[in-house]
Amino acid sequence: MRKVSLIPGDGIGPEVTDAARACIDALDVGIEWEVVLAGEPAVKKGGSLLPKETLDSIRRNKIALKGPITTPIGTGFRSINVALRQELDLYACVRPSRYIEGGNSKYPGVNLVIVRENSEDLYAGVEFKDQDSKTEGLIEYINGISEKKVRKGSAISIKPFSRFACERIIRFAFALAKKENRKKVTCIHKANIMKFTDGLFLKIFKEIAPAYPGIEANDVIVDNLCMQLVLRPQEFDVLVLPNLYGDIVSDLCAGLMGGLGVAPGANIGEETALFEPVHGAAPKYTGKNKVNPVATILSAQLMLTHMGEHKKAKILEEAVCAVIREKKFTTYDLKPTRNDPAAVGTKEMTEAILKEIKKLL
Ligand code: NAD
Repeated sequence: MRKVSLIPGDGIGPEVTDAARACIDALDVGIEWEVVLAGEPAVKKGGSLLPKETLDSIRRNKIALKGPITTPIGTGFRSINVALRQELDLYACVRPSRYIEGGNSKYPGVNLVIVRENSEDLYAGVEFKDQDSKTEGLIEYINGISEKKVRKGSAISIKPFSRFACERIIRFAFALAKKENRKKVTCIHKANIMKFTDGLFLKIFKEIAPAYPGIEANDVIVDNLCMQLVLRPQEFDVLVLPNLYGDIVSDLCAGLMGGLGVAPGANIGEETALFEPVHGAAPKYTGKNKVNPVATILSAQLMLTHMGEHKKAKILEEAVCAVIREKKFTTYDLKPTRNDPAAVGTKEMTEAILKEIKKLL
């Protein structure tokens, strides 16, 4: 038996992780789940937001499956999701976007993968509050050394880009392209405006690309990318992006494949990997047996592939695709209208996927 840490999360997290767990158990891959908490459920149990036993469990098991965790906006509560990625140095966020027949995608043929840098950029958490004495000191310092001036009283977020992190993520993107037999890696940036940060990202991309002669390398400015993705996403293969653009473009690409309900993700480090859907905790649907379990089930499928369980991963993917193709046991988000009476709940869709798994085993 191999142990895998399971973090159910909050909101719809427990429902969708239960679904993914049931699918993995049905595949009989010999996984023993170690359930650990993070976020508000951990605090309610008397722990901290990110308890040491949770981090220890993931470090020990090296693999984790996670449901979404709520981050209240504008409070002192920093994102546990970002904290987890930083604590475990899960530097690469991998989010495939692939057309599934029968789903909601308007783009047959889409098959791309986002590789997002996960540790730096404006998400590094180096922030200074407005009207604060420390921030005022920083503003004074900046105004002393920079031609461009910052207004007094401003809030400031720092955007660090290191050569180390840029090299690491760009090499990761090319290695992934090679492993998955993909043909092209596109570097996404805004180096025309941010000469030093995005400029460094692009410069390092151009340095590394020649080491992969079989893979085409090009670059596109992020705003232009958004337009091109909406017009002809089929032309893209691997996209490598800094953290903030990667986060935003991930949701766009989730839309290309038919919505957040079907978009899976992985956060990968040298030692550890954590698999979770792109979507969040969707609090309004908590406990309503309403949401699509597929994003988390396909995240578990990425986990199986990462663990070398390629045959079982393929069966899981086939089972999900069969249920979506049939269009019968699918949740509201995969129906033509939001209030379609033919929509089934999370549990019913999971049951249909489990039936397909049994047929394929
Ligand atoms: P969200 O992804 O939770 O939900 C937005 C909307 O997308 C939902 O209202 C719903 O209509 C739809 N949706 C999401 N998941 C779905 C599913 N499985 N099936 C069908 N429809 C689905 O985004 P939000 O409302 O911006 O965020 C809610 C909370 O989740 C916030 O606190 C946010 O910080 C957090 N969040 C967590 C993660 C994470 O844990 N990795 C990621 C994103 C957001």
